[in-house]
Order: sequence, then C-alpha cells, then structure tokens
Amino acid sequence: MGGKTVLASGGGDLADEPADGSAAEPVAGARLYVVATPIGNLEDITLRALKLLASVDVIAAEDTRNSARLLDRHGIRTRMLSLHEHNEARRAEDILRLLAEGKQVALISDAGTPVLSDPGAILVARVREAGYPVIPIPGPSAAMAALSVAGLTGTAFHFAGFLPERGSARRTAIAVLADEQALLVFYESPHRVQACVEDLAAVLGGEEGGRDIVIARELTKLFESVHRCALADAPAWLAADPNHVRGEFVLLVTGAGARKGASTAELDRVLKPLLAELPLAQSVKLACGITGLRRGEVYERALELAGKQPAKKG
Ligand code: SAM
Repeated sequence: MGGKTVLASGGGDLADEPADGSAAEPVAGARLYVVATPIGNLEDITLRALKLLASVDVIAAEDTRNSARLLDRHGIRTRMLSLHEHNEARRAEDILRLLAEGKQVALISDAGTPVLSDPGAILVARVREAGYPVIPIPGPSAAMAALSVAGLTGTAFHFAGFLPERGSARRTAIAVLADEQALLVFYESPHRVQACVEDLAAVLGGEEGGRDIVIARELTKLFESVHRCALADAPAWLAADPNHVRGEFVLLVTGAGARKGASTAELDRVLKPLLAELPLAQSVKLACGITGLRRGEVYERALELAGKQPAKKG
C-alpha cells in the first residue's frame, strides 16, 4: 500500500486541549488550513478560523474581492492570492513553493466549506501528496445548514451538489438518482432553480406516494426562507412569486425510501383484501408484485394487519 500519513498537529483532539478550550495554535511549520467561512451572515465564522486567518502567511481565496469584505469586517490584513477553478492547478504549484519555504497557507472559498462544490480538491491532493499537513477548520456549509432546519427524518443523505446545466443532461442525472433511498441534496442558483425543480418534479414527482421537497433559500441572510411542499407542487409554488426564485438555494428531496414508507395507505388497500382471502405468505407475494414494494416491508405490515385481524386469516 502506498498510503501516506502526515501528522498534522491541527490543534489536537478535545482531550488535548487546554482547560480554557482553546487549541494550541498557531503552530510553526508549513501546512495548509482548509477554512470554512460564512454562507451569508459574516458573523458565522469560528474563533479558530479568525485566529488562523490572521496568523497564516497567505490566504488563497476563490475571489479576493469577495473575501476582502469578510477579512475587513474582522480586521484581518493577511496577504491574499486568488485560487479559482480556472487557475487552481497553476496556483497549487505556487502554494507548494510557499510551503517549501516553510510558509503557512489558508484556503477559503466564496462561501461555506472549500472543496464542497467549490475549488480546492486539486490543491488539497497536491499538498497531501507532497507530504505537508492539511488541516480542516470546520464551520458553515449550506447543505448542513439546510439539513439542520428541514425537519426531514432519517439520517442518510446523498449530496449531489449542482445538477448539470443542460435540461437533457439534468433529467438524465436525476433519473440516475431515482432509486436512491437517502434524502437527495442539491445546490442551485437563482437563474436555474425553476427549470431544475420542474425537472425534479417531472422525473421524480409523479411517483406513487409522492415525494416532498424542502426549498431552503438565502440561509443566514435577510430573506432566509425554508419551504416544504409536495415535489409535484413545487414548480407552481416557485412560479407564484418572483421572490421565491431569488437568491441561493439548497433543495432537499425525500428519497425513494421515504416515498415507499409514505405509501402505507396504498399498501393497506392492497393487503387487506388479500389477507382476508389468502394465507399470509401468498398475500405478501401478491402484494409485492402489485405495489413493487420490498418484501420485508410488506411482510412486516402484513404481520401487523394479520395480528389485528386473526379471525379473517385463511
Ligand atoms: N462550499 C459551499 C458550502 O459549503 O455550502 C457551497 C459553494 S457552491 C459554489 C454555492 C452554492 O451553495 C449556491 O449556489 C447555493 O446552492 C448554495 N448556497 C451557498 N450559500 C447559500 C445560502 N446562504 N443559502 C442557500 N444556499 C446557499
């Protein structure tokens, strides 16, 4: 195995921290910090992030003008250089040279956690390959913020990021996700959100049992809103008010598993008459064929119903 482990001393785990809870930073030595920054509200930044951004030698920022607002707000004067999707490979070489001189570098993006639907993956890979520590400074991410307030149950989610821009490619990408049991998480921009939600509804919205969508808009900002509705109804909701399509979006669509879970009423409509006339195993087999639901789920429900109606069993 050609794996490489680099000890990072990234501040230590909780047990290593001083009694006041602060990590033992800054630490000398070349390293790359990957620092999460706000997704809107400029106060959503950790104390550790502020401390590091003020102490590193250079900040690599997706858009230096945009990040200047954040740094100004917090009185940070650290030198910045730009690192975006069009110059990342070249910039990675520049940053490796800085690290070779013993410098410390922080990577930030326009919003949230770098690398997540943002530049940075190439840089992180190169720096790790070169043997330098890469240290996460966790903080905001739009997906996590949306998940935390969506009110959707279940723990599994599939982070799909941005769907393709072109309609046909987008519909194909959505169709590929149709059987995913986990909650689906998408990012979308204001000029494509209507078309994107129309495609989500067209490909996934007509399913029996129906899926729900949570449209999380402008999180942590002045016009923050979180709206939940049936996926099939979402295009009309977006079209009903121009404000509904303004800003930045996280779209959460319930997964195929939730859809199946939601169709208990439909399953009962099929199972009850079958159980009234046939043995349980045969009823389950027929109900699976009729509804397309998983055997385990149908069997469990059949047992429940049979327990309530023992006299009717064949
Ligand atoms: N790295 C970021 C993160 O950790 O969330 C995401 C960067 S990606 C280029 C930008 C997209 O994230 C936006 O188009 C939008 O889909 C989502 N986003 C960013 N800020 C948001 C906010 N305040 N409210 C809702 N969505 C947001």
